[in-house]
Amino acid sequence: MHSNARRTNGFDRPLRCEQFFVLVVYICVVTGYFLLVDSFIFSKARVALTIVNVVLTIVVLVCWYAAASIDPGSDETDAAFVYYCTRRPIPPKKFCKLCLKDVHGMDHHCVWLNNCVGAKNYQPFFLLTWSGTVQMLLHTVIGVFLTQELAAEQPVIDR
Ligand SMILES: [Zn+2]
Repeated sequence: MHSNARRTNGFDRPLRCEQFFVLVVYICVVTGYFLLVDSFIFSKARVALTIVNVVLTIVVLVCWYAAASIDPGSDETDAAFVYYCTRRPIPPKKFCKLCLKDVHGMDHHCVWLNNCVGAKNYQPFFLLTWSGTVQMLLHTVIGVFLTQELAAEQPVIDR
């Protein structure tokens, strides 16, 4: 059922299955990394890699929650105050048909956050995308190194 009320943030109805799907997949990937991959790292780099992964996980989850929970909707008084303080031009606003509201500096409506990405929540969104990308690249590099290491330990059978 579609509501005609203005949505405040990503946790307002209607909720989307994508926002829960991405969270469940991310938690499964990170849990899988710590349970399966992390325990196979025997080098001195293990502690550093574990700390980096824990920090990236916290950054991703906090930024996901911040980007989804902030109301990016336009508030003229707020925009005028920011302009008065920073002298930065007020970004143009666009109307989101899904959230039924104007958003200053609207980038897009993110189905994974179930929220608009605009000037107010662009910083956590930007940090979320970069920290998530860095973490997945790190997992890929560690996976390739571990696979090579495990392959090198396998006895070679001569025929
Ligand atoms: Zn929206």
